[in-house]
Order: sequence, then C-alpha cells, then structure tokens
Amino acid sequence: MENKVKYSVIVPMYNEEEVIEHTYGRLKEVMDRADGRYELIFVNDGSKDRSVELVKSFSANDQNVRLIDFSRNFGHQIAITAGMDYAKGDAVVVIDADLQDPPEVILDMIAKWKDGYEVVYGRRLKRKGETLFKKLTALAFYRLLRSMTNVDIPLDTGDFRLIDRKVCDVLRGLKEKNRFVRGLISWIGFKQTSVEYVREERFAGETKYPLKKMISFALDGITSFSYKPLKIATYLGFFLSLGSFIYLLVVLYQRLFTDTTETGWTTIVALNLLFNGIILLLLGVIGEYIGRIYDESKNRPLYIVREVEGYSEQASEEAR
Ligand code: UDP
Ligand code: MG
Repeated sequence: MENKVKYSVIVPMYNEEEVIEHTYGRLKEVMDRADGRYELIFVNDGSKDRSVELVKSFSANDQNVRLIDFSRNFGHQIAITAGMDYAKGDAVVVIDADLQDPPEVILDMIAKWKDGYEVVYGRRLKRKGETLFKKLTALAFYRLLRSMTNVDIPLDTGDFRLIDRKVCDVLRGLKEKNRFVRGLISWIGFKQTSVEYVREERFAGETKYPLKKMISFALDGITSFSYKPLKIATYLGFFLSLGSFIYLLVVLYQRLFTDTTETGWTTIVALNLLFNGIILLLLGVIGEYIGRIYDESKNRPLYIVREVEGYSEQASEEAR
C-alpha cells in the first residue's frame, strides 16, 4: 500500500519562474502532512522562461515530483487535462501555480473527500489583488454562463478542486478539444461539495490570461454547454421578420388608401446597416460553433509532450 500514490496534485504552469519555487515549497510542506504518498505533477505549458529547469532541479532531489513538458503552449485547460492523463492518485487535485489558491486548503478538500464526496471544489469568497476589470468580468461571466446553460456550474469557482479517481477516469474519456474542465466536471455529476477560501493575490509575476485568452475561454465555456446563442438567432430572425411584415402592410395601406406616402433614403440606409450588422453578428455566432465542430473533426491529439521526467520507465509506459 505504501508504494501506491494516493494523491496527485496537478500544477499547470506557463512562465512561472518567479513563483514556482515557492509553490513547490508550500505544496511539499502541505502534502507531507497528508496521510499517504503523493505526487506533484508540474505540467509545463510551453514556458519560455526557466520554469522547466527549476522543476527539473526539484525532481532531481524529490522523487514525488513529475514534469510533463509540452512541445509548445497548448493552454491552461489542456495542461490540466494532460496532468489528469498522467495522474496515478486515488484523489486528484488541480491547483494554479501562482499561489492564488492556498495549498493549505487541499487538506480541507481531502477531509471532505474522506467524508465521501467525489468532487470538492474551491469556492472563492473574495478575490484579493485582482483588478476591478477582472473581478467584474469574472462576476458577469459566471452569471451569464449559468443563465445560458442547463448544466449546474457553481458560481465563482475556478479549477482549484479535488476529484476522485472515478471522476478523473470519466473525464479522461471525454475527448472534446475545446475543453472547459470545470463545466465538464459539473456535467459528469457525482457527489459534489465545496470548501470556501479567500483567493490570494498572485505571489509574483503577472496574469497569463490576457483579455484575448479570457474571451476565448468564455466562448468555450458557453458553446460547450449551450445552444442558446443559436436559438437567439432564430428568435431574433422571427421577430424581425414579423415586425417588418407588419410594417410593410402599414406602408401599403398608406400608399393605397391615404394621401401620405413614406419617403426617406436615410431610413432605408439606416435599416440596411442595422440588419446587415445583425446578420453578420449571427453568422459569427454560427461560425463559433462550426469552428468548434471543425476542431473536433480533425482528430488531432490534445497536446504533444516533449518529455516527461520523474517517472521510472515502467511508470511512464503505464501512463500513456
Ligand atoms: N496557465 C497555463 N497556460 C496558459 C495560461 C495559464 O498553464 O496558457 C497556467 C498559469 O501558469 C497558472 C494558471 O494557468 O498556473 C492560471 O493562470 P493565471 O494565474 O495567469 O490566471 P488568473 O489567475 O489570472 O486567472
Ligand atoms: Mg492566477
């Protein structure tokens, strides 16, 4: 039993050289207090800094450290997915590399897991040291997502969570390319609960989620779980056509039975622009879905690994 890994902790990292040493130290300290063997899986998502060398140096002195090194940047959600593919533990924890999620909370998660919960997610009571813009967009996003989807995705939770082996195995079977991991976990179900925590300031460095990544992340979340944007197109089209038809009747009536005739070049141009704008917007919405269907159909692997470290040869064979 002693040899079996009980807890796997997945740490996705992208250019985190300024924090990763502290993260490792804190995680080690916390996990040494847990009641079983553990592994710390650092997934390097194409960092261009010294993150990899640092992890290699931890791994040289600590057999609980693993490194999965991607061939390039594949994205946070894919990095988490790779970590789960390699994780061996009975419980799998995902935590950000920047110490915004306090590692100590993992012990609370483990306690809930022992009570029989299969998913324990961290709920952020407060977000410290993040810009007002980030807080507001996050607030709006989680609420929009909830109103758009039928899946019960809890408000204000990130990917910081513990999942049971069963959940991890089911998740690994979901092969979709544009992954929104926290949504998939809600979709899977099982017994879920939360632990509350205060989201700290980033320990060092800056956010690896610029606006562009945030938008594509949000679109993935919505399109993976909802057709509502497509339905909006249908409803909008229906009501606009109905309105136009009624208006047409009014104009015809005026022309045939009264002395007033509608004139107005300006109105025509304005309406044209408006309707063309709406049409283009809706085409874009359809495009978002088609693009994702295209991604699925190509059947490329989710990620490419340059090398793994911290596994004996046999162990890394098994992980594939
Ligand atoms: N991350 C990653 N790949 C990316 C972007 C981010 O692996 O392309 C990692 C990053 O190193 C961190 C986690 O994902 O461990 C969350 O990123 P970040 O803290 O920058 O996001 P924020 O907390 O600002 O939303
Ligand atoms: Mg962060």
